[in-house]
Amino acid sequence: MPQSGGHIRSLYVHFPFCEAKCHYCDFYSIGVERTQAGDADQFEAALHREASLTTDQLAPELDTIFFGGGTPSMTPVESMKRALAPLRLQERVTEKTEWTMEANPSSVSLESLRQYREFGVNRISMGVQALRPDLLVNLGRVHSREAAFRALDAIFEAGFTNASVDLLCGVPGQTERDIEDAMTLLTNYPITHLSCYLLTLHKTHRMYGDLPDEDVQLSHLLLIDRFMKSKGFEHYEISNFARPGRRAQHNLKYWTGASYLGLGPSAHSFDQKALKRWKNVSSLHLYGSRLNEGTSIVEWTEELNADQQHLEKWMLALRLDEGFPRSWLETNAQKARAETLICEAFLESHPTKDQYLRLTPKGFALSDQVISTLS
Ligand code: SF4
Repeated sequence: MPQSGGHIRSLYVHFPFCEAKCHYCDFYSIGVERTQAGDADQFEAALHREASLTTDQLAPELDTIFFGGGTPSMTPVESMKRALAPLRLQERVTEKTEWTMEANPSSVSLESLRQYREFGVNRISMGVQALRPDLLVNLGRVHSREAAFRALDAIFEAGFTNASVDLLCGVPGQTERDIEDAMTLLTNYPITHLSCYLLTLHKTHRMYGDLPDEDVQLSHLLLIDRFMKSKGFEHYEISNFARPGRRAQHNLKYWTGASYLGLGPSAHSFDQKALKRWKNVSSLHLYGSRLNEGTSIVEWTEELNADQQHLEKWMLALRLDEGFPRSWLETNAQKARAETLICEAFLESHPTKDQYLRLTPKGFALSDQVISTLS
């Protein structure tokens, strides 16, 4: 175990490379066609420097590690090991540490998955998004339906027992039948978790006008809720479903306001003790050159004021099925608004926690409206 240590028990590392940039993606990532010779080496060296500078902020034992991106599975395991060596991850993980890596179907093989597992990764989050071939093409995904199945086979053959899949709904042209087919095929695998996000696009996007209206979006979300529950999954967060005991521990840290340290370009961090959030620059070259020069890679820092803390308390509590105590409804106006939301089936009494309220499936689907009404 490392001798000294900070208090942060969760680590995020952002890997910025992707095989191609998907049409709808807002994350900081660079499609291979836009990378230059030496970018991968520059990233490895810069990440190593950032890891050396921040290792003391991490606690001696970590609860969660998350390799996100971008597509982390495009970075070879040996490069990851060299870059992150200053963090001494092997000394900080325990048998309880959840160590997730995001992957895309076309960037993994049985061999590479075995290597990541040997490194310590014990959970894979696979970006499937859709299984209908033309939807995959429209979304700009580079993998095929068959590649998704091959990758899922490889995950379990490599020995992973904890695997999540990402799906998109509300995609132009997608039908309820498509969603049901995808969920049926995916839940035939022993996946433990499914994240299903509603596709959002900028107004200037060529498919923006083809997005389904709110009623169709709602019926997609309610269909997913019914289907996944019928397969034994818990709908524990707005967009997330898990088998009992398999909720995403790392994401729960975000949703419960715990501290996490983010490394890599565009990564966010949060220090719960200092109530401070900060973000790294969203540019690989700026990230690399600033670390080289010894100048700050932080793009902005924010200290949460009382109003922000209040809003975050509501946003975090409402997104989880744990709900919130009725005692949070302080004013008569808030109590009246909550009663209206209960009548309209957006809110319900928690089935097992006395004096708690939580969102219904319809409330999850329209959570932004509920949060702004109540907070
Ligand atoms: S693979 Fe993921 S991170 Fe990369 S461009 Fe597509 S959506 Fe964005």
